[in-house]
Amino acid sequence: MEHYDLLVIGAGSGGVRASRTAAALGARVAVVEERDLGGTCVNVGCVPKKLFVYASQFSEQFSRAAGYGWSVPEREFTWATLRENKNREISRLNGIYDRMLGSAGVDVLQGHGKILGPNKVLVGETEYSADRILIAVGGWPFVPDFPGREHVISSNEVFFLDQLPDSMVIVGGGYIACEFASIFNGLGVKTHLLYRRDLFLRGFDRDIRELMAKEMQAKGIELHFNTDVQKVERDGSDLKVFTDIGSTIDAGQVMYATGRRPLLQGLGLENTQVALTDKGQIEVDELFQTAEPSIYALGDVVGRMELTPVALAEGMSLARRLFAPLQFSEQELKVDYSKIPTAVFTQPNIATVGLSEEAAREQGFDVSVFKASFTPMPLALTDSDEKVLVKLVVDKASDKVLGAHMVGQDAGEIIQGLAVAITAGATKADFDRTIGIHPTVAEEFVTLR
Ligand code: FAD
Ligand code: NDP
Repeated sequence: MEHYDLLVIGAGSGGVRASRTAAALGARVAVVEERDLGGTCVNVGCVPKKLFVYASQFSEQFSRAAGYGWSVPEREFTWATLRENKNREISRLNGIYDRMLGSAGVDVLQGHGKILGPNKVLVGETEYSADRILIAVGGWPFVPDFPGREHVISSNEVFFLDQLPDSMVIVGGGYIACEFASIFNGLGVKTHLLYRRDLFLRGFDRDIRELMAKEMQAKGIELHFNTDVQKVERDGSDLKVFTDIGSTIDAGQVMYATGRRPLLQGLGLENTQVALTDKGQIEVDELFQTAEPSIYALGDVVGRMELTPVALAEGMSLARRLFAPLQFSEQELKVDYSKIPTAVFTQPNIATVGLSEEAAREQGFDVSVFKASFTPMPLALTDSDEKVLVKLVVDKASDKVLGAHMVGQDAGEIIQGLAVAITAGATKADFDRTIGIHPTVAEEFVTLR
């Protein structure tokens, strides 16, 4: 029986990073994958989503070009071209992952991984043994039960639609619902977003959420808050969505974006002592060790923050701790979850790092809030009313910047830079003494008074 120091189940963001890092540190490693290398992010997540975001931005850019003297000829969008070009790019990335794992010396075992015991995994018909097993199986879209559930799609299917529908209902108020509402609206699809509470993007700063709702509505997205689906019926080639407030919406497609759940079916956890949290995620300690000492878990399946850079950081941290703990400082071995920057790739983008104003107050900070909302310069010669919002939440006692928030084009690019400063403990005085780059949108962060 083939034996490994580390056998990883799942070649997504976390599993690939853990495998490569462990192999580079001298471990004998295999990674098991039943679908495509790169996992959710590469195949049905961050990467194809961002390509779709780029595609959807052109429609506004064409309209805005007129104020700058350009006349854009009749425009036409072909979904099949975008879909096929995207598929080709993803295949290219799958190949890169394959070569990257091969050159790192990691064995790729194609097939379903089932744990048979604390040190044994079955892949297809073959059994493998390992000193340690890492579960990095990620998650799967969750769609609640309701009459007509069989008619709706999730983010897994949306990337491969045969045709672009004329109209779309998107259910949910998180990252995926908001991003795809912007994508489809930008591609010319009549888009409705249904969310069960009063304002979407729960957990983000309230000012950000309110401005985003306004911007989406201004761009033509129909927001239905305090609304849930009662049933969905097929009506010829269309679907009819019946809501709990008595309205009916016709749509070519209905997409559910109501969170994701760990992908644990057939994993063989019953053959181990691995325990689950009350949310159904794998329970791990600070070092990603489960209740079964030889088995570890990380990434979406433990659900600390379901983001690719978090899974990457966890994978690297675990491999370093297991195979070369003395080569690294404590800081290099630890994942710091306190100031994780994140972006929602809506139109305009949202990006944020640190605490929202509400969270800071809830945590007992006495805060000063600095914010500005304005029309960004690129829109000066257009008829767009789109606004940028920049906001800093500052602890009065220490002057430390607790959170930076932005709505605006390229917010993710800007907040990534600020995240370095905030992670390093920047104060508002540090922001104030920083010279701006003029004329930019980002300079507003250092001129807030
Ligand atoms: P995954 O990447 O899901 O990898 C798990 C792998 O395990 C999969 O390849 C799966 O096939 C395999 N697997 C599962 N069970 C088995 C088994 N028993 N045997 C063999 N193989 C198995 N994050 C961001 O940071 N930025 C974004 O812009 C972003 N956009 C997203 C957009 C969408 C639509 C979605 C769905 C997610 C997005 N995310 C984004 C989240 C990000 O994709 C995940 O946080 C990340 O992929 C988690 O990595 P992981 O390694 O935990 O799991
Ligand atoms: P989220 O957790 O972000 O949002 C789920 C949404 O669905 C919430 O608005 C939630 O409402 C709602 N919801 C949950 N259950 C139900 C239900 N039974 N009926 C109606 N509504 C329901 O999940 P997503 O699916 O949007 O994305 C999954 C994760 O993937 C994200 O959390 C994020 O970590 C990651 N991701 C990251 C991206 C990025 O970095 N740009 C992009 C896409 C995904 P409520 O608020 O009431 O709980």
